[in-house]
Amino acid sequence: MRQPLLERYRDRLPVGAETPVISLLEGFTPLVPLAGPSEARDRSVRIFAKYEGLNPTGSFKDRGMTMAVSKAAEHRSEAVAAASTGNTAASAAAYAARAGMKAIVVLPAGYVAAGKVAQSLVHGARIVQVNGNFDDALRLVRELSERYPVTLVNSVNPFRIQGQKTLAFEVVEELGRAPDYHALPVGNAGNITAHWMGYSELYADGTTDERPRMLGFQAAGAAPIVRGVPVEDPQTIATAIRIGRPASWEGARNARDESGGAIEAVTDEEILRAYHYLAHGEGLFVEPASAASLAGVWRWLRAGKIAEGSTVVLTLTGHGLKDPGTAEREVRLPEPAAPDIDAVAAAAGL
Ligand SMILES: *Cc1c(COP(=O)(O)O)cnc(C)c1O
Repeated sequence: MRQPLLERYRDRLPVGAETPVISLLEGFTPLVPLAGPSEARDRSVRIFAKYEGLNPTGSFKDRGMTMAVSKAAEHRSEAVAAASTGNTAASAAAYAARAGMKAIVVLPAGYVAAGKVAQSLVHGARIVQVNGNFDDALRLVRELSERYPVTLVNSVNPFRIQGQKTLAFEVVEELGRAPDYHALPVGNAGNITAHWMGYSELYADGTTDERPRMLGFQAAGAAPIVRGVPVEDPQTIATAIRIGRPASWEGARNARDESGGAIEAVTDEEILRAYHYLAHGEGLFVEPASAASLAGVWRWLRAGKIAEGSTVVLTLTGHGLKDPGTAEREVRLPEPAAPDIDAVAAAAGL
């Protein structure tokens, strides 16, 4: 039977005999080889997608949340709180429901994709919308956790990063080695920090001989790490990475510099091109932020910066159904056809 992530990697995580494991059987997502025609194929570069949309709440956030909520339960906390661009809220709400705890989520009003708000509400979270951006929400929820008896479960909670590092363990198990490159979107930068921690632990204990070069991609309108200064009014259709003041900035910089990697920006147009390609060309429906990873790798391929024969892993961070608004804007539902065979055949393009 499938095991909770915290059981499977118990010896590599801060899980003790007294830790109640709060799990929805997260992790163990498929590492799908991209199959469609691409520049990668021409150079015999193999690209694999770690499809994190198949986690219980539809994003990689569940890896960190199982750890953070289990520790909150161990410490007898009655409530967890998070600021969120959406997926952290949905995950916190689900794991809190599982643990019989309260969840409080602070969201930037008007900037969270519809599917994520619905999830959080249905799981029973108390939602507070603030007129501000994600960075304001994070500041407020941090203060809330200092003044009131609630456990903060944003990725500034170190247990979140611990749980998220397991993605690297799974990739190495599947490939039998570390990839040459690992690309992912960067928002608050907890995940790139966690990936690098995971690979570095395997390298330190001799499980792997190599670590990948980490390629982090921010949206051009929300690229503080690329620019080297906070962005006051971040803008992008990729709402999950619409963050101007990443909490794990330092961790992201370390991952980039120690791995010989890069953190770069991709435009919303490039993100949408990759979004459509993944859905239509590969059968992988992801939310826009996730597609930033492929958009960035395409840039690297075009520039000839990825060596022949390399293995590249993309983290596809969240499921496309999370953000139905983008899908509806991007594709047009045709007018209804008359209910007769000729009209239906014509409308079907036959
Ligand atoms: C949270 C999230 C990100 C960004 O991850 P960070 O750890 O904040 O850098 C990217 N994509 C999706 C779908 C997310 O939910």
